[in-house]
Amino acid sequence: MSSTNQAYSFFQGVERNFDKAAKFTRFEKGILEQIKACNSILRIKFPVKIGNDIEVIEAYRVQHSHHKLPCKGGIRYSMDVNQDEVMALAALMTYKCAMVNVPFGGGKGGIRIDPKKYTPFELEKITRRYTSELAKKNFIGPGIDVPAPDYGTGAREMSWIVDTYASLYPGELNAQACVTGKPIAQGGVRGRTEATGLGVFYGIRELCNVEEEMTKVGLPVGIAGKKIIVQGLGNVGYYAAKFFQEAGAILVGLAEYEGGIYDAKGLNLEDVMAHRKNTGAILDFPGATNFSNSADTLEQPCDILIPAALEAVIHKDNAAKIQAKVIGEAANGPLTPDADEILNKMGVIIVPDMYLNAGGVTVSYFEWLKNLSHVRYGRMEKRFSENMNAEIVKNVENLTGKRIGEAERKMLLRGPDEVDLVYSGLEDTMISSFHEIREALKMNQGVEDMRTAAFICAINKVGVAYEELGIFP
Ligand code: NAD
Repeated sequence: MSSTNQAYSFFQGVERNFDKAAKFTRFEKGILEQIKACNSILRIKFPVKIGNDIEVIEAYRVQHSHHKLPCKGGIRYSMDVNQDEVMALAALMTYKCAMVNVPFGGGKGGIRIDPKKYTPFELEKITRRYTSELAKKNFIGPGIDVPAPDYGTGAREMSWIVDTYASLYPGELNAQACVTGKPIAQGGVRGRTEATGLGVFYGIRELCNVEEEMTKVGLPVGIAGKKIIVQGLGNVGYYAAKFFQEAGAILVGLAEYEGGIYDAKGLNLEDVMAHRKNTGAILDFPGATNFSNSADTLEQPCDILIPAALEAVIHKDNAAKIQAKVIGEAANGPLTPDADEILNKMGVIIVPDMYLNAGGVTVSYFEWLKNLSHVRYGRMEKRFSENMNAEIVKNVENLTGKRIGEAERKMLLRGPDEVDLVYSGLEDTMISSFHEIREALKMNQGVEDMRTAAFICAINKVGVAYEELGIFP
């Protein structure tokens, strides 16, 4: 954890943000306490043979809320994993799912290892053993709890999980739905890999398209030409940076764990990635200034700052030095509550994690639905749409007496592929949820930041679900 405050509790930070918003809701204390509480916490230790030694591995799975099932949330591999962190991340998942109308309870898992220290074979052994432990304790299953990738994990780990689960439950028709973020051949959905980064882009693009918001921070409308700094070039950060660059934004700063680079004229993402592959670091990129202390990159001039690595990277000691007008929380919990207060006072627009990085869980929901329905998106309607489109084009041509050009014809006739439908569902979710948050900002006098407004939206939805479930006497 990068915070200089050693006593920082991520979970308490989430609770602090929750309490700030809860005041603006109508729920009684008991309901609010129930929403906040972590329902089930699993802490396990299991032995794995690594080389000639036996290593005892520490791991967690937290189900924060059962108001909707299954629980949903990623699995993290990092030496920073601890119970407080997993609880906080699970809680954020509850609010995130509610915010973007994905019908799941919040969950999260973590294994306290440095994945860089193990061979793929050793990682596979650890992942498979972790999955069996979850199965033994009833902490995984298509209707119980469905993990996904997070920091330090990806499609490879998810394929080991689904394979282990399926072999533990032979004949289970819906076994593939026990985890999301899988490779396509294992039941994954097209568009999941880039979903979180793409969702970050859609969310920030929507903000930048609202003139009222841009006027507040003195920036012109639109993404093109905006100067961006991204921290963390993993799954989320890399794709977010890629989509910003493709939309005409200028990547002025990039930060990784080995250091950061800055060039006011702009950095080409693919060139930086190739340079990192060749030299082992993003540092010494031609024309760019180096920052051996990676965190210094965050303090450089830019319009939009995208922290996409880990939590608490902006804290009370560096918050006032941030020059960005907009911070897009691609990572979970990148700002401590102290930093949040300082930056809000400075007039910075903070687009909160529980909304902005929800693209991953949104497309995970689509993957889960695909697995339960056992059919690829677009399979039923693609040809039908193409035939209908051909009819419309033919009629337009007959009526106008003109022939549509070949490029336009190709575009108009095309029926949707799976990836088109996934992107469209994601874009719609990010746009409509953004406006839900803005609506809550306008409706609640005294609420001035998007995080509190997003929490109000989420608490209202989870609170109603608990009320409808009924509380037993
Ligand atoms: P990842 O492991 O793919 O990438 C993280 C990157 O951050 C790595 O390249 C790592 O080297 C880099 N990094 C680590 N410490 C750093 C530091 N101090 N400074 C700069 N870079 C550093 O992880 P990810 O899946 O991209 O997750 C990143 C964040 O996004 C996490 O907070 C995660 O919880 C959140 N998130 C991920 C998803 C998802 O779908 N993967 C969904 C929602 C939220």
